[in-house]
Amino acid sequence: MADKNYKLGTKLIHAGVHPDPTTGAIMTPIYQTSTYVQAGPGDHKGYEYARTQNPTRTVLQNALAAIENGKYGLCFGSGMAATDAVIKLLVPGDEVIVSNDLYGGTYRIMTKVFANYGIKFHFIGMHDVHNISRHINDKTKMVWIETPTNPLLNVIDIAGAAAITKKHNLTLVCDNTFASPYLQTPLDLGADIVLHSATKYLGGHSDVVHGALIMNDAGLEERLRFIQNSCGAVPGPHDCWLVLRGIKTLHVRMQRHCENGKTIAHYLRSHPKVGKVLWVGFEDHPNHDIAKRQMRGFGGMISFTLKNDNIEDALAVLKKTQLFSLAESLGGVESLIGHPATMTHGSIPREQRIANGLGDSLIRLSVGIEDVDDLIEDLKQAIG
Ligand SMILES: *Cc1c(COP(=O)(O)O)cnc(C)c1O
Repeated sequence: MADKNYKLGTKLIHAGVHPDPTTGAIMTPIYQTSTYVQAGPGDHKGYEYARTQNPTRTVLQNALAAIENGKYGLCFGSGMAATDAVIKLLVPGDEVIVSNDLYGGTYRIMTKVFANYGIKFHFIGMHDVHNISRHINDKTKMVWIETPTNPLLNVIDIAGAAAITKKHNLTLVCDNTFASPYLQTPLDLGADIVLHSATKYLGGHSDVVHGALIMNDAGLEERLRFIQNSCGAVPGPHDCWLVLRGIKTLHVRMQRHCENGKTIAHYLRSHPKVGKVLWVGFEDHPNHDIAKRQMRGFGGMISFTLKNDNIEDALAVLKKTQLFSLAESLGGVESLIGHPATMTHGSIPREQRIANGLGDSLIRLSVGIEDVDDLIEDLKQAIG
């Protein structure tokens, strides 16, 4: 289909998908095969070996490209496998400028894996993107951002960062896991590579681990596809099918995540025991203007502290919620609650974590799509 001509809600259901040529099956089959029979050596239908190509994966890759307004999609076994592939574009001596408030696993692969291969990462505040320019030198090859950030819900100006990376001929990578293409399409704003942990909103049902990259540049796609095949961190066809099924309802789910998120953010803000509430939709959010410009909604991710900032009290809240399950991850239909300092961000040293504004008592919510009245009742009894 001519993907560009349809609106997102239509693309989520139809883009890249076609009736199965062998039977007409409307839902993309799970091609559970490792290889493909050739009529003669090299005489095949574009499929040789399933690490290299799989029809279920091809459909998902095309669908992901379409919904991110990109030309090419590449799928991986996890968000971290996608991250790993992007960093493998670099060689020893190269430098990367990274937003200092980011997913703990991304920080870990950079500092504990790729730093050992001679790649240097500078973690800096990007509240004002002009800060990026000050760290660019002739070894800089890439700028890596996540927005909104996890778990502090900071917002980084994607178009502003892109203006800087274009001027210096650097690759801009944007982790769009938190926003999803429903809320934000970074390629439209000048990013070169969009990265997803499809484990989160794209999959949406907490039943699959999956990663994806989307881009417009054919040369970049070729290099990343080479890495995808050479390093082999590819997803199985069943996982691709689950993500394909998940994205068909992304718009409907995100709409409810946003509504519930807004109601809960305001509820928390009015609660006498709650300290700071971090949510992108508040007018007094430090980068609300940028959020309004680059996002189409504000999502269901909320972090908050308790007024007394007591870690024991915070942990007690986590124990008491019944609908909000205590778990890592986010973006599923069910609400989750977490404690970044001991969970997702446990791998970041305490001094650095606190310096970045992620305190001991911070609680993070991934607001699901349950009835919001029940979610509020649950928080009410847990916070007390
Ligand atoms: C979860 C997550 C990742 C890592 O993805 P996995 O699928 O868990 O490997 C990367 N970035 C962000 C923002 C995430 O939330």
